[in-house]
Amino acid sequence: MSNGIWHERAATIKIDGRAFINGERVPAKSGATFDNISPVNGKKIGDTARCDSADVDATVLIARAAFDDRRWAGKSPSERKKVMLKFAELIRVHGDELALLETLDMGKPIKYSLSVDVPSTARCVQWYAEAIDKVYDEIAPTNDQTLALITREPVGVVAAIVPWNYPMIMASWKIAPALAMGNSVILKPSEKSPLTALRLAEIALEAGIPAGVFNVLPGFGHEAGSALALHNDVDCIGFTGSTRIGKKIMEYAGQSNLKRVWTELGGKSPNIVCADCPNLDEAVESAIGSIYFNQGESCNAPSRLFIEESIKDEFIAKALALIPSFVPGDPLDPNTVMGAIVDHIQLNSVMGFIDSGKAEGATLLAGGHQSRTESGGYYVEPTIFADVNPSMKIVREEIFGPVLSIMTFTHLDHAIREANNTAYGLQAGVWTSDIRKAHHAARSLRAGTVHVNQYDNDDMTVPFGGYKQSGNGRDKSLHALDKYTELKTTWINL
Ligand code: NAD
Repeated sequence: MSNGIWHERAATIKIDGRAFINGERVPAKSGATFDNISPVNGKKIGDTARCDSADVDATVLIARAAFDDRRWAGKSPSERKKVMLKFAELIRVHGDELALLETLDMGKPIKYSLSVDVPSTARCVQWYAEAIDKVYDEIAPTNDQTLALITREPVGVVAAIVPWNYPMIMASWKIAPALAMGNSVILKPSEKSPLTALRLAEIALEAGIPAGVFNVLPGFGHEAGSALALHNDVDCIGFTGSTRIGKKIMEYAGQSNLKRVWTELGGKSPNIVCADCPNLDEAVESAIGSIYFNQGESCNAPSRLFIEESIKDEFIAKALALIPSFVPGDPLDPNTVMGAIVDHIQLNSVMGFIDSGKAEGATLLAGGHQSRTESGGYYVEPTIFADVNPSMKIVREEIFGPVLSIMTFTHLDHAIREANNTAYGLQAGVWTSDIRKAHHAARSLRAGTVHVNQYDNDDMTVPFGGYKQSGNGRDKSLHALDKYTELKTTWINL
């Protein structure tokens, strides 16, 4: 499809930033809105409802009523499965529209909204739909005089608070397992990218998820978000976002009803390339492709690269040769692979990190500037720093932008020690042909996922989450169902 077609569609697409409560689009109770600015060109594309604690109070009552009358939880797993399969199918049917909204809202290339975000979201909903009727309860091995049944029940009202970097996918990782288990859900998308979450709720209703079961409250974190996290009738929070806000959410739970809090937080993932890596070209392509995918705005981006000293020059030469293919372009052009940074706040933050790298003495090998400023949007060149040391801010803190920091090592154990020298523990990579080194590194790296001789494999069947301050839960896979269920033991005297 040519570049022009997506621009034509963008000019006419319906943008509706109103909340979705009890099966209907409604404004915030206060009537307040805020501007939705597209990072593609810096222009306003619509108004977003500015929900606050009054909307949260009303929506929690609705979600609670939907849970208590069992209009969704009371359906058999096979009935819920049927509806959720329809939901997944309709996500695919509305794929072009959802992809365009995602690109306009957060700036990612339309190519990836179409080929990654929409299919991954549909697959997540489908996967949990297909899982529901394969989850069995248990009978404990007690004695002949009693039966001890261990059954799963939905938690109740689940609030899902999600970030802007993969708005639909992050929403689906929460809502799909929570809905599958029969909960009522209130989704709070990021104020920076609310549009696809709102459309997902409409599509869910069209598929047959009853009104009141899946609600979406757009708004700011310090208003709608904190009101949800502090609410005494919310039973569980599924949170994905920064470590800083994750800590606040846990505090809010402690200040209120001690609701269950599951956190998927930030990362500063290491990627270790040994001189005996099986294929240097593949290692370079993966390292560069993974850090720049989604403009570097990925929690698991391998932003700290450790290269064995003896292959440093060759690796860097190959990496620099790839840089031109990641030059930012118009996100609505189907050939673009690197789009816009989500907003001017994030743009300034990324540029601040680049300035700090320069000021602290790192060597800038590529990029380092804004680009496409004439578009009015927010774009940053793919950037590489070398001669980086572990005390620099660009190595210690999550940048969440297209910035790679390169360090070298001569002994694998030193690289592993430095790789673990971080508050985060989301993912890690190691490249070597030596199975013993690979196994040793995989065992020693403190991360929820370790990749060996690749970096970007992912699947619904495997858990996704972090060690340390990267969070306490796991999204995806059957393990995520545990987050949205209570275990009940029923003793029966025979
Ligand atoms: P953020 O923490 O600023 O915001 C996340 C969500 O929390 C948003 O919806 C926001 O409105 C809300 N929020 C903000 N303040 C709040 C408050 N006081 N109370 C309640 N809610 C509040 O994060 P972000 O900038 O949207 O996203 C980027 C972060 O998300 C990065 O740190 C990234 O690593 C992380 N992330 C983690 C994963 C993972 O699976 N581990 C996946 C994607 C993103």
